[in-house]
Amino acid sequence: MIEAALLGTSGMMPLPNRYLASFALRLNGKLLLIDCGEGTQVTHKLLGWGFRNIEVICFTHFHADHISGLAGLLLTIGNSEREEPVTLIGPAGLEFIVRSLLVIAPELPFDIEFIELAQGGDRFKHMSVSGFDISACLVNHGITCYAYSVQLDRQGKFDADRAKAQNIPVKLWSHLQKGEEVLYDGKVLTPDTVLGPARKGLKISYCTDTRPASYLADFVRDSDLFVCEGLYGEDDKLEKAASHRHMIFSEAARIAKDANAGELWLTHFSPAMTNPREFLPYARNIFPNSYTGYDRKNKTFRFSEE
Ligand SMILES: [Zn+2]
Ligand SMILES: [Zn+2]
Repeated sequence: MIEAALLGTSGMMPLPNRYLASFALRLNGKLLLIDCGEGTQVTHKLLGWGFRNIEVICFTHFHADHISGLAGLLLTIGNSEREEPVTLIGPAGLEFIVRSLLVIAPELPFDIEFIELAQGGDRFKHMSVSGFDISACLVNHGITCYAYSVQLDRQGKFDADRAKAQNIPVKLWSHLQKGEEVLYDGKVLTPDTVLGPARKGLKISYCTDTRPASYLADFVRDSDLFVCEGLYGEDDKLEKAASHRHMIFSEAARIAKDANAGELWLTHFSPAMTNPREFLPYARNIFPNSYTGYDRKNKTFRFSEE
């Protein structure tokens, strides 16, 4: 299972009760955050998932509403007595920007490891960091910006009949079941000898800020949860959204539909939009399983039953 929580749902400027962009995932007790707008540590504290286990923070881009909360958050992680390194992932220039912010947070008790997504490289990148299987996709926002997906694979079912047929002792079954190789009778046994085909895992995608693009549906294909920006709700705000390289609700819903997503959570609302729910029909007309996000909206996603 994997838990997902919107920490902040405001774009550009925070409001009372609506912090700036940030999203959290929890997997096996470890946390991955995407974006860290001003106030992220306050809303994270309210969510109650703790600071000590924040392993990875990914950045979509370097507009202030997505990174201005980082220095304070790192200080608070430091106060949680964390000593293990924290990995930061983001566009090229990440280390320079973070080192600049660290001038006001100079004495952290942990190291920071940087993964910069190379400029001019491939549109899609994949990496495995601290137990998280992370993909990044370059999007279209005027400055370098990435969408992210986190995937949790699920191995095939253990086939006891196959194990018996190969005379594999029962005491080795649990290792193979966990995906480990074992040595038996001078031979290496691999899990694929006793496991069925891989089953559908979980995928959670997060995409802000960008204009729609044809490759986005492929990138977020079959996501159980697709979190996507909707700076404005109404269709007649399209021109305004496009001029700022953002989306309206119906554009996000179109991507969710094309991608066969499980559900869509809209986020990154314009501060002028005081009640995003009012505009939800613009999304639901296209993709019925659309929801407007709100700070600390969260849900646990589990593997589907066989
Ligand atoms: Zn933004
Ligand atoms: Zn932006």
